[in-house]
Amino acid sequence: MALDERAFFTDKPETKQGRYTCPKCRRSGDYSIRWVRRIKKDRPPQGADEMDRKKFAKLRDYILRLDDEVVCKACGRKFEIPSQQSMMFVDQLDGLPKDEDLEKEIEAASEEPAKPAEPKPALGARFRQSSSNWK
Ligand SMILES: [Zn+2]
Repeated sequence: MALDERAFFTDKPETKQGRYTCPKCRRSGDYSIRWVRRIKKDRPPQGADEMDRKKFAKLRDYILRLDDEVVCKACGRKFEIPSQQSMMFVDQLDGLPKDEDLEKEIEAASEEPAKPAEPKPALGARFRQSSSNWK
């Protein structure tokens, strides 16, 4: 039986500041958003089978946004956090860029092909041309 992904991680709650503009009153403000950081454990949990171990090897630390909406500080109305991204890999967060930079980074990352390119087969020696000196 496959293990739940949460068995591979240690959860650590954290809060991040984000600047959002209320779509109703158009005023922007800084909001504290709750996230949870999932830190990959040192080793696969007990009872992990071979599939679980393979899965574990591919995992990376990531953070997950828990809040989907905030209450506007100016008008008091709730609005959705206008970010599509509610999950990010921790290695994308190096240097704690601003949200705008982060969005760009995420965009750039999502443009990468989903599958790694197949390595090209090396050309065999028979394709190599040798020059000969015929007289
Ligand atoms: Zn508002």
